[in-house]
Amino acid sequence: MKVRKHLSADGLFKMVRNGFKQVNDHRPTNIEIPLADALMSGFALFSLKDPSLLAFDKRRQTPENLKQVYGINRIPSDTQMRTILDDVNPEGIRPLFKRVLQQLQRGKELEKMRYMGRYYLLSLDGTGYFKSEKVHCDNCLEKYYKRSGKTIYTHQMLGGAIVHPERREVIPLAPEAIIKQDGTKKNDCERNAGKRFLEKLRQDHPRLPFIVIEDALSANAPHIRELKRHNLRFILGVKPGDHTYLFDHISQADKAGQSRHFEIEKDGVRHRFHFMNNVPLNESNADVRVNFLEYWEIKSGKTQHFSWVTDFTITCKNAFTLMRGGRARWKIENETFNTLKNQGYHFEHNFGHGEQHLSVVFASLMMLAFAVDQAQQLACRLFQAAWAKVGSKRSLWEKLRAIFNELPMDSMTMIWRAIAFGFHVERVIIHDTS
Ligand SMILES: [Zn+2]
Repeated sequence: MKVRKHLSADGLFKMVRNGFKQVNDHRPTNIEIPLADALMSGFALFSLKDPSLLAFDKRRQTPENLKQVYGINRIPSDTQMRTILDDVNPEGIRPLFKRVLQQLQRGKELEKMRYMGRYYLLSLDGTGYFKSEKVHCDNCLEKYYKRSGKTIYTHQMLGGAIVHPERREVIPLAPEAIIKQDGTKKNDCERNAGKRFLEKLRQDHPRLPFIVIEDALSANAPHIRELKRHNLRFILGVKPGDHTYLFDHISQADKAGQSRHFEIEKDGVRHRFHFMNNVPLNESNADVRVNFLEYWEIKSGKTQHFSWVTDFTITCKNAFTLMRGGRARWKIENETFNTLKNQGYHFEHNFGHGEQHLSVVFASLMMLAFAVDQAQQLACRLFQAAWAKVGSKRSLWEKLRAIFNELPMDSMTMIWRAIAFGFHVERVIIHDTS
């Protein structure tokens, strides 16, 4: 089996380690633990899917594999890791996400994710991962509940991932924290985080052709103007309840015979479409014109209904493709956030909150570890073979930890190879010398 080095776990780990060496360290020079080692330890914690920082701390008793596999020379204690990472500006981790994407581009692997020709579907959504009445930091969002007299502190993030309707892999981009912004007392919101996300997206990837897919909250005129300003195409959900003007407009046009209907049948599923191009999104922003697509999936007597607006001109020829693109939006929830929460990554576990950045740094490192895993899943045949051998991700992570904990290993390649093809066990011959 041939494995391309830059797309193997070891190649990706090396790239991450080198990236961490570039992150600014504001500490004085006489430091015990280099910043790159502290960041790499955080990365290894999520790469190994340890359930807690304490579990990772125990690894200091047998540091050989952390050194061999992850290249960590000085392993911080749990307290040291929290203290060091609390001071790190999470923006320092952002370039690493770009490098993962570049490794995939270099290996022509990102092309597997292309949709509608040269485009990539970029699904965006917000999610919460921390909530507490007691624990909080300078960046927490706070909400005061009058009735109970309690303040609830939370952290949320806006995540973005390249998705494809026919692929299980998702390629996450750098998340944008929804937190209190520096120097303000006001809570942040998903809409502002969205603006920052798009701004930084275009700084990181000025020319990548994206189709942004989002839910109905984002189908508003200011956001569509932002998308256009950044040269981003879009397929955004709309709802009759939230977009009354649009749906009334369509309904009248339909009665006047100005919209199009058609239906196709594929593998026992009826796909019914209704569309109209060049319609106003709402009354107060008549300049924002969109194309409207409505869709019903009728399968074994059950009907599901969806509707979107897009800047692609809709035809009977592309309606099906646009529909599948719009529906791939759920992959940011299901294949990304839910995987992080329920498939071994412990997204909602509080690994340590800190006073400044720790909570966001941990969330970013977890997303980065997930990106590296997904890149391997997309592009590394050895990882695919190991996964296929054990059958599930849960078993794969368990097996990884079991080997990592027990046996001296040179590299992650050696671990995946052992899982996929078994160990070569030396035969021991016992002589009877009596
Ligand atoms: Zn906080």
